[in-house]
Amino acid sequence: METDLRHALDRHELELYYQPKIHLASGKIAGIEALIRWNHPEKGLISPDAFIPLAEETGLILPIGKWVIQEACRQTRAWQKAGMTDLQVSVNVSTQQVQPYTLMESIVGALTESGLASESLVVELTESMAMDDPELKIELLNKIKASGVCFSVDDFGTGYSSLSYLQRLPITELKIDRSFIIDLPDNKDGGAIVSAIVAMAHSLGLKVVAEGIETQAQLDFMRTVNCDIIQGYFYSKPLNKKDFEIYAATL
Ligand code: C2E
Ligand code: MG
Ligand code: MG
Repeated sequence: METDLRHALDRHELELYYQPKIHLASGKIAGIEALIRWNHPEKGLISPDAFIPLAEETGLILPIGKWVIQEACRQTRAWQKAGMTDLQVSVNVSTQQVQPYTLMESIVGALTESGLASESLVVELTESMAMDDPELKIELLNKIKASGVCFSVDDFGTGYSSLSYLQRLPITELKIDRSFIIDLPDNKDGGAIVSAIVAMAHSLGLKVVAEGIETQAQLDFMRTVNCDIIQGYFYSKPLNKKDFEIYAATL
């Protein structure tokens, strides 16, 4: 698997899928999240949970992560030119990428090469990544933010956030982890947590994304708590380039 992964980039076996994020109020597209897939020659399509940990262990995440940002920026710029003028793309990064030189260099390189405006790029860090050595993260993210790139905290609620650090991080968005959404609206405690996260985020001036919305009932619940943006199979699974174009044409 490791040897195969080493060649995956050169052999063009990695591919980005795109999942739309939808504004709850208008039903319009708020952006897309780029999610990596590996088209393995024998094993077929492999999901990130099955190879990102290996990429992290072996250090291959650095070239792979750099490619993800490049490819997401390139594709989004192409879609903007084709008419989706305001399209914004979110990318996921691993801990090893969130280092002073590494992250800045990949982002600046990808934006320059693609011609994508920095405002069109959102970088998602998981909550535990953001809270690991938070002083360093605050400094690093502030430097990058100065160029116009936005940051989002992914899988919110699964780690341990210091609220004083959360308030100091230059982020614009919180993504509520799917585990809180999954048994809504029946789970009253889960509902109370989601409602509190949305209220807290709004009072900090952050937008809230609900991850993993699959049913109308979950969507209705998110409306009652005033969530801003919805991402989930209810609207669309992550789609390859061609299928995303077909989906976008129906919007
Ligand atoms: P994530 O960033 O939290 O992405 C959301 C995951 O939830 C995606 O899984 C997406 O397909 C899935 N999802 C979205 N809506 C629904 C839904 O309604 N129901 C269900 N059951 N699932 C839903 P995916 O694509 O398998 O990615 C898993 C994780 O792998 C991501 O979680 C992210 O942490 C990581 N990942 C994906 N792409 C990259 C990448 O390019 N770089 C790095 N470092 N990590 C990545
Ligand atoms: Mg994400
Ligand atoms: Mg997530």
